[in-house]
Amino acid sequence: MLKFFNSLTNKKETFKPIIKNKVNLYTCGPTVYDKAHIGNFRTFLFEDLLKRTLIAFGYEVNHVMNITDVDDKTIKRANDSGKQLSEITEYYTKLFFEDSLSLKILPANNYPLATEHIPGMIEMIKLLINKNFAYVTEEGSVFFKISSYKNYGNLTNINTSEMQISSRVSSDEYNLDSPQDFALWKAYKESDGNIFWNSPWGKGRPGWHIECSSMSIEYLGKHFDIHCGGFDNKFPHHENEIAQSECAFGTKFVNYWLHSEFLLVDGGKMSKSLGNVYTIPTLIKNGFTPEEIRYIMLTAHYRSKVNFKLDKQHEVKMAIKRIQTVKSRLESINRISTNSFPKIKNTFDKILGDDLDTPKAMALVFDWVRKLNIDMDKNNLSDEEISNSFNFINYFNSIFCILVDNSKIPANITKLAEARETARKNNDWEESDRLRDIINAKGWNIRDGNSGQKIFPK
Ligand code: AMP
Ligand code: ZN
Repeated sequence: MLKFFNSLTNKKETFKPIIKNKVNLYTCGPTVYDKAHIGNFRTFLFEDLLKRTLIAFGYEVNHVMNITDVDDKTIKRANDSGKQLSEITEYYTKLFFEDSLSLKILPANNYPLATEHIPGMIEMIKLLINKNFAYVTEEGSVFFKISSYKNYGNLTNINTSEMQISSRVSSDEYNLDSPQDFALWKAYKESDGNIFWNSPWGKGRPGWHIECSSMSIEYLGKHFDIHCGGFDNKFPHHENEIAQSECAFGTKFVNYWLHSEFLLVDGGKMSKSLGNVYTIPTLIKNGFTPEEIRYIMLTAHYRSKVNFKLDKQHEVKMAIKRIQTVKSRLESINRISTNSFPKIKNTFDKILGDDLDTPKAMALVFDWVRKLNIDMDKNNLSDEEISNSFNFINYFNSIFCILVDNSKIPANITKLAEARETARKNNDWEESDRLRDIINAKGWNIRDGNSGQKIFPK
């Protein structure tokens, strides 16, 4: 059983998919006007954790993540730099995919680009105008009339019926204390340069919010299971998505809304002026491994802030090493093939299934590792128990992905091991020991068993 905190109801709820064993999941993707920073990846890694957990619980996940390649920010960046919009967005999209891959984020089934889905957005805006939820202005913009939708504000707990909504807002982002009619279609302005599409209301471009409504519905249907983003997406982005989608199609839009808290750096907001807007490549240059970055992001609960500090690296390395070492130890012992798990898996699943309680799940694993080491020291475990424990470590890692793959032995180590095998066959024990020492110095262990040498990381 899985339970999630649903932002829509402000409650932890048991997850029930619309179609048995299937989950349709939409996550708001990057706005590709700049390099994605570690804050963005805090959210993308939370979504990866959610997806990996759903998969581990037996669900087939159909995941769509959009790429916001046209909005206020991308247009400004393109026009400020004198480049074509596509030149800017393709470059940052490529970097985003590289970072996602290096962090072992499971790829989505689809990454629709906003610029390739403008006709669908226009159709949805037409529907909203026909149903009187939207109006066209003199200059050819279209606005959603929030007073026409009685549930407006349900996600963010604002009550617009008591407010006088007299103004409208063109920009994609604005404040929670000023809910206003928002732009579905923005009429062309000189400052847009050559970025525009034709529409029944004249040339212009879509607002950011309609992009996600239209693309999520196109790929996942009018009513789907889960929609995620960072908590700043709640208002106005997700509030507006709900309004547009439910008014256009007259059905409930999304069952579960999940939002992750922000990442802070040294206790504060990341900002360019402080020089602390870290990207994944900068962290890697600073000596962090992708596994360490995952560990930092995933050991905080997704609804708590992550406070990132560069100097925490040693602590993180030691923590991962504790689990990695036990994995290597299990690998070096003869195992039998089993499909079972030790009892800890039930507890681990219960904890993780309870709104993805990763800090508690990680604490459980550390405690288990400590006891497992004692049992192995005392030779207390049967072959079956060893094998089940090994299965559990792999299961744990299929969700957290913080351990390196021991099966990938570097070519130079394999070569040294082969030379050592030859030396042993020739009874050249001195050379064999010399090669073993080199292998050890490079961070690998070698053990001789009945079936030959076994190599595993130290
Ligand atoms: P953007 O590229 O600005 O559209 O943001 C992509 C995702 O990153 C959205 O889901 C945001 O909510 C999320 N996000 C932005 N900044 C942070 C941060 N500091 N911590 C966590 N998530 C963030
Ligand atoms: Zn979105």
